[in-house]
Amino acid sequence: MSVRVRFAPSPTGFLHIGNARTALLTWLFARKNSGHFLLRIDDTDRERSRDECEQDIMDSLTWLGLNWDDKANQKDRMDFYNKRITQLKADGRLYPCYETPEELSLKRKSQLSRGKPPIYDRAALDLTDAQKAKYEAEGRQPHWRFKLLDEPIEWDDLIRGPVSFKGSDLSDPVVLREDGTPLYHLCSVIDDIDFGITHVIRGEDHVSNTATHVQMFKAMGATPPEFVHMSLISDAEGGKLSKRLGSLSMRDLREDEGLEPMSIISLLARLGTSDPIEAFRAIDPIIESFDFSKFSRGTPKFDPEELVRLNAKILHETGYEDIKPRLDEIGADDVDETFWNAVRPNLEKLSDIKDWWHVAKGPVEPVIEDADFIAQAAALLPPAPWDENTWSTWANKVKDETGRKGKQLFMPLRQALTGMEHGPELSDLLVLIGPEKAQERLSFKKAA
Ligand code: GLU
Repeated sequence: MSVRVRFAPSPTGFLHIGNARTALLTWLFARKNSGHFLLRIDDTDRERSRDECEQDIMDSLTWLGLNWDDKANQKDRMDFYNKRITQLKADGRLYPCYETPEELSLKRKSQLSRGKPPIYDRAALDLTDAQKAKYEAEGRQPHWRFKLLDEPIEWDDLIRGPVSFKGSDLSDPVVLREDGTPLYHLCSVIDDIDFGITHVIRGEDHVSNTATHVQMFKAMGATPPEFVHMSLISDAEGGKLSKRLGSLSMRDLREDEGLEPMSIISLLARLGTSDPIEAFRAIDPIIESFDFSKFSRGTPKFDPEELVRLNAKILHETGYEDIKPRLDEIGADDVDETFWNAVRPNLEKLSDIKDWWHVAKGPVEPVIEDADFIAQAAALLPPAPWDENTWSTWANKVKDETGRKGKQLFMPLRQALTGMEHGPELSDLLVLIGPEKAQERLSFKKAA
């Protein structure tokens, strides 16, 4: 049996960190098993679905390198749903209900106050035709529920292990709205059947939905697929992903934070697994090591700081050839290989390179505390052309002449040359600055 999976976002918001993790793990599973990855847009809620969000989801997946083999929109599949719905009604598995939201909420409250679980009481099943006709004459349109059978529901979850529910512990889910349009549950199951999905991979917030879906698959004569429910990620303190992090969108990470996609992939692929989190520059080793059996049921913590650390590590290890397109993208197309190699150990985010470019090319305001020392050093600058040995030649001369060494020697030189106390190796930096600018900076006089 070849693996067929789907990632099924609702286009009601931008792709965020939680969804991106579902997409990634689903994609990795597909690629590991030479399977098929469907992007299914769950846009049955026409009021909340937005084209802009669907576009963002596609752009973000593409940016992350997660390509899809096929794409479907639920809004285009109404004919398929309607055929199945007609059959389910004929089979007596869907039934009309006339309660208003207020009536349902009252029922729930009264059940809870009596210490009972808020399960729908199926009052609608007892309605006579005359009562239904009366409701309709009053202008009430029914919503429809799927009738669950009172039998055990079991599956062996690839992460959670054996899961079981009793049909009688669950509410019959509402599957058709008052206007007759189908809701997520039914559409999702029909699509999973029609697209031959073999593994449904989603967050653990869907576990009880899955229990009802298992019966829907059976009601439509299909064998339920395998299910995989991943635990949801929490924030660094172990709490529910905060509003801020919850809305941490790929768009923010890409456009505002300027992160490399592989930093996100590296973190999300390993979060909550028994494998260590490592900075990967390519996806192949991640695909290779991927296995649901390595995922724990515990709640993994998402720490944005870790993303930045991975991002820095990835940049430090990326060669010029590979980074060149990204440099062009951020408008740093002047950066050549020498500059890249000199500066990359100092980068956390790629955009930091602009700061170092500025340090090398100026203008910078030199910091000169001991003007006599700096004047002495300036007089000893070796003649052009300069290379990576120029710094040590010069530093040795300055040391011999002034008797300074260590930090006393190089810190004032660094500050005079760059205006800063830290940065790339001076041996690299000096060449990047060049004789003219170096002389200029060492002779800098602060305006009185
Ligand atoms: N649209 C649903 C969601 O985003 C899909 C869940 C599923 O994978 O079936 O939660």
